[in-house]
This record gives sequence, C-alpha cells and structure tokens, in this order.
Amino acid sequence: MKFDLHLHTAWHSPDATTDPWELVQAAIQAGLDGIVITEHDYLWTDGELNQLRAAAPELVILAGVEVTGKGGDVLCYGVANPLALPRGMEWGALTREVHQQGGVCIAAHPYRWGQPFEKVLHEQAAELDGIEVMSKNMDDELRRQAQELLRKYPHFAQLGNSDSHEPETVGYCYTEFTCEIRTIHDLVAAIRQRQGVACQNPARIGRKSHSSITKLLG
Ligand SMILES: [Zn+2]
Repeated sequence: MKFDLHLHTAWHSPDATTDPWELVQAAIQAGLDGIVITEHDYLWTDGELNQLRAAAPELVILAGVEVTGKGGDVLCYGVANPLALPRGMEWGALTREVHQQGGVCIAAHPYRWGQPFEKVLHEQAAELDGIEVMSKNMDDELRRQAQELLRKYPHFAQLGNSDSHEPETVGYCYTEFTCEIRTIHDLVAAIRQRQGVACQNPARIGRKSHSSITKLLG
C-alpha cells in the first residue's frame, strides 16, 4: 500500500494552502492508498478525520503530528495525547513520551537547513524509530546523507513523503508498505517492523527531464 505520511492542510498549518477536500482528491489522483495528515504541533481529531473519510471511503485517512522539537521537526505517529508534546521539546523527552503513548518517532528531513542531525541525536539522547529519506524538501545531497544514516543506524525505518503544503505536490514521494494498513496502530506496527520502502512518484515529478527522473529513481 502506498502512503504519503507527511502532509499539511490549511485547516491547521498556517503555512499550507491545501484544502482538506482537495487533499483527498489529489491523493487519489497521485495513486495513493492512504494519507497521514501531520500538521505542525496539532493532531487532527477523530471528528475531523471522519468528515474526510466520509468524502473518500476508498482512501485510508489517518493523522499524526509534526512536532517542532528543539533540534528539529519530528513526525510522531500513534500519539494519544498531543498536549504532552509541546513545541521546543528536546528529542530525548519527546521520543520517550511518544513511545510511552504507544507511538513512533521519525525525524523529518534530516540535515535540512544545516541541522546538525547526529549531534542532536546523541546530545539529546533521542530514541528515534526512523528518518525521512526523501521528500520534496530533500534535494539529492540530503537524500544521499539520509541513505548514509540508514547504513549507520540499521534499526531506523525509512519513510518517503511529500511534506506537501499545496495540492500539486501531494504524493510527490511516498512509502510503499507490503502489509495491510487500515488504522494508526497498523501503521505504527509497520514502521516498527521497518516494512516500508521510500519511493519517488514519477507521476508527480512534473516538468523534469527523463534523465533527472532516472536519476531520482536510481
Ligand atoms: Zn512538514
């Protein structure tokens, strides 16, 4: 199943323009089986999710939260109480709290904006479950560095996401899971078991030449 697990909407991310109804349409057009909405420091309620689910029953629609941590952004899935995850939290405390709530933590776009990723990881004693290895906000160099991290930390799960803030980029990258995912608990288990493989979506690359598509896929 193909999931884009890093998506923002205008409902709760001030920097996003995507209307949630456009989001589900764009996700279906991009060939996705599921989406996970991850607003900045906000977790969608079940009531909000159910409104969208009613509009697109063929799509699995789940929610996580992108916490603005002290060392950088962390995607948290399987969160029960987002109020215990305030902005600016150190990664050590953040990852332990999410684990206590039964969830998993994935570092969003490692090394972006000069983030000293490994320094943060070690100094803050973070217990990360994985990293994003590709998104529309990760260029070739960031993707190469992410692959190095995967080799160095083989227990890390890999995610491919869009980090989309506008409908045109939904599904730009995605994660392909070999197992069935219907609930957030299924997703957490799949990430823990490192079931996903990050993929670039050729249908979403836009006007780039064939050679650059080959390069991105390679
Ligand atoms: Zn984001």
